[in-house]
Amino acid sequence: MTRPFQVGLCTLFPEYFDGPLSTSILGRAVRESRIEVARYDVRDFAEGRHRNVDDTPYGGGAGMVMRAPELGRSVAYARAACPDAPVVYLSPQGAPFEQAHARALAALPGMILVCGRYEGVDERFIAEHVDAELCVGDAVLTGGEPAAALVVDAVCRLLPGVLGNAASAEDESFSSPRLEYPQFTRPPVYAGREVPAVLRGGDHGAAAAWRERLSLARTAVRRPEWATDEALEALGSLASSERWLVEARHPDMSVDGGKRSCMLRRPSAGPDSGTVGTLQETS
Ligand code: SAM
Repeated sequence: MTRPFQVGLCTLFPEYFDGPLSTSILGRAVRESRIEVARYDVRDFAEGRHRNVDDTPYGGGAGMVMRAPELGRSVAYARAACPDAPVVYLSPQGAPFEQAHARALAALPGMILVCGRYEGVDERFIAEHVDAELCVGDAVLTGGEPAAALVVDAVCRLLPGVLGNAASAEDESFSSPRLEYPQFTRPPVYAGREVPAVLRGGDHGAAAAWRERLSLARTAVRRPEWATDEALEALGSLASSERWLVEARHPDMSVDGGKRSCMLRRPSAGPDSGTVGTLQETS
């Protein structure tokens, strides 16, 4: 077997990863040595009686900042174990993480992920040690650990042998700039909604064509920035009985007086349709 993919995690909370790394597909990949994970507790790289890893920010302000020397030593140690792995700092200020990043990382021998805490990390650590900064969504987390767990999951499922069925990773959402078709399983009727007959008829060609059309139409509705002429055509071809299959449940966003609000509502076709609530940013 080829050498396992090396994952180095620099964190103040190595135990955070116990669950993600022992559960389901990732757990199996670790047990089968397809992935080798080394967790580096940044506090182990601290000096002095108090083993400080953070300090108050220069210039004042709330909270603490993770110090560069301890982070730097933890990364140097991780790099010695896997010299060809890029160092990725999980940051709200990073590039929005997407499938292309996952694919690029999965093609390498490994990756070293650095998890910040508090108000973040000393900028000089980033300048000296970090190859890439990735953000997992425009919302602020308490620490980089959940973001790192997400990146580990997305990358490792692309490694050879990790998914039972390699084809699963090939035609799903984001494998091209396109969303996947709707999925169904038994029972054939649920809450009065029937599984489309074409998927039950045994004609695999017809089922594949239906899926292709629905995948394109869904993409046109839910990710209009990816809508091609073909996708718009597929959307136009939908019968009225098929509209619910593409309807998006994206909360409505609006901007009023500089504040972004988000409206949550039940779909109009649903059993108890209407507005569920309005969420407004308070700052
Ligand atoms: N003060 C920072 C700012 O406004 O940019 C936020 C610090 S956040 C509370 C603490 C740590 O969580 C960060 O250093 C980063 O590692 C991680 N983090 C928070 N949100 C993240 C996100 N959306 N994507 C990736 N990492 C995130």
